Amino acid sequence: MPPETHVLDPPSILFPYDKVRNEQSDMIACVLEAVQERKHTLIHAPTGLGKTAATLAPLLSKILSPDFKDKKLTIFFLTSRHTQHKLALDTLRLIKEKYNISFDVVDLIGKKLMCLQPGANLLQGTEFNEYCKSVREDKSCEFYVNVRESVFKLTPHGHKVVDDLKTILPIHVEVLMEACKEDKVCPYEITAEIAKDARVIIADYYYLFHPSIRERFFSKIGKELEQAIIIVDEGHNLPSRIQKVMTSMLTTNMIKYAIKEAKKYGYTELIEKLQILQTIFLNIAQGLSFEFGGQREKLAKKEQFMQPLAAKLDQEYDAFIDEMEVIADAVRILQKHSFIGGIAQFLKAWKGQDEGFVRIMNLEPSKTGPVLKLSHRCLDPSLVAKGVIEQSYVTIMMSGTMLPTEMYKDLLGFPELAKEYTFDNPFHENNRLAIVIPKTTTKFSMRNDQQFSAIAEICSQVVEAVPGNTAIFFPSYHLRDQVYQHLEPKTKRTCFVETPGMTKQEKTEFIERFKQYKNTGAVLLGAITGSFGEGVDLPGDLLKGVVIVGLPLQTPDLETKQLIAYYQQKFGKGWDYGYILPAFQKTLQGAGRCIRTETDRGVVVFLDERYAWPMYGRCFPEEYQVHVSQYPIEEIEEFFRKF
Ligand code: SF4
Repeated sequence: MPPETHVLDPPSILFPYDKVRNEQSDMIACVLEAVQERKHTLIHAPTGLGKTAATLAPLLSKILSPDFKDKKLTIFFLTSRHTQHKLALDTLRLIKEKYNISFDVVDLIGKKLMCLQPGANLLQGTEFNEYCKSVREDKSCEFYVNVRESVFKLTPHGHKVVDDLKTILPIHVEVLMEACKEDKVCPYEITAEIAKDARVIIADYYYLFHPSIRERFFSKIGKELEQAIIIVDEGHNLPSRIQKVMTSMLTTNMIKYAIKEAKKYGYTELIEKLQILQTIFLNIAQGLSFEFGGQREKLAKKEQFMQPLAAKLDQEYDAFIDEMEVIADAVRILQKHSFIGGIAQFLKAWKGQDEGFVRIMNLEPSKTGPVLKLSHRCLDPSLVAKGVIEQSYVTIMMSGTMLPTEMYKDLLGFPELAKEYTFDNPFHENNRLAIVIPKTTTKFSMRNDQQFSAIAEICSQVVEAVPGNTAIFFPSYHLRDQVYQHLEPKTKRTCFVETPGMTKQEKTEFIERFKQYKNTGAVLLGAITGSFGEGVDLPGDLLKGVVIVGLPLQTPDLETKQLIAYYQQKFGKGWDYGYILPAFQKTLQGAGRCIRTETDRGVVVFLDERYAWPMYGRCFPEEYQVHVSQYPIEEIEEFFRKF
């Protein structure tokens, strides 16, 4: 049954389509209230409701209205993935065309991804920034020189490219990059120039939620955070993204390669200093081993590294960092990348605060042998997000899997008075069958061959009962492989086995081949945190079934334990916030692959006995109408017979 639609009220909203769904209309009202009353807002709204149009249309209408004109507000539509930019850009293009209005839009991806210098994409984030800075300063990047006469002044050629591109906005960043390539100008510099006048900027989270990137970016485009309306799309990803960007790591390999680099370029004194650093690093790791029952990780302290280093080098800690940075700059001129620079970056980060962070030394296997990692890991994303949200004009965070919204409000430091809204599924509830089959488990203590065989047996029966493609998601690739050994001989369906670390091209080809089996039915076997557990859209009849095998709980390692303890102390909800709900969020992301549009129909199977336990069962959103099934195969067959 199609969702109800009606004509939009108020009619002044620049809505891109002729009709608006009831749920969309309600969401527009929430967004209008958020911007009018400057109330930071969290919105959980299921996939398919049309969240992008329901946020961009009212916000754009507001900032272009006479009441708001003097406020000079800019909308920042932030995403965690580049693929999400397209929908926002297409929505804005429709608005522009339908209402024949003029406003500038910028589509921005990471500077490194936009860089035209060969090999730049191989550099690490900080390394790339240092490299770009040095080639701009010594004017050896022709693409930069072609755009700017000085930091604040464009060349006549740069002016012309900016003016030409402004006439065809909004355009996808790939189109802009092609144009810049032809004109031999830096795409990032051109985009930043256009962004100065843009009313909407579509970008990755870190342009606003990485402290130093935000500072540089805002100063470059001449905008203020106080005048930013922030939309965080797929907001459930924001806490982990912030934790990741605020985490720093030093490994045995980094030190080894830095020593090699110092030898290669003849920095004799530095070689000795790095060897001292290596000894201190190894001292911290003492006691860790791969032996059976051996300790693989332990907590570390700031002083354990800083004090002995300064004492043994007979040099101030900061002076050592400065010395390495100077050498790294010289190395980058010769080979772009510098491991010495990477170590300097880590030493800087290691000076950082303890509150909301944890320091861990751990031993991990790798292809080249055991690797030691010393890390300063961020536990508390609110340390960064709170300030951004509070300073912004208004922040609206939305997602199709952001339940409970209260958790995200707490984790990111939204103010107490922030609004929270939960919207129902706009699609007919009979379009989805969601069942728990409580006959197996992937609980660590219960993992054995018999269990894997039982899981494979149920999976093979489910895929047989689904008249089309099915995706099966596992907590890890390792577990997937264990089950697959048993599943392969049992199923007649063609199996598509995801490989870790697939390139964009490989992923596209993989999915395209899988889609071709929509009538006969194939099986995709992947990891829930892999390439397809989130971010792949298989609408219509391309995917009719999803099986979530097990509960993707984090390994209870030192970091997870510290996270639980931290959230327990801060919110009194350590297990929920640090362990159970993040796992459930992944489960629901995977489950959500099935129903993407109002005409989709599909079955979602939660295959683990723990989904039937009250502790976990309470985490299912009501809209799923999940029930434990005693006769799952019959239910699945019956469900598909209805259509
Ligand atoms: S100025 Fe532009 S083209 Fe040159 S290195 Fe930096 S990002 Fe790359």
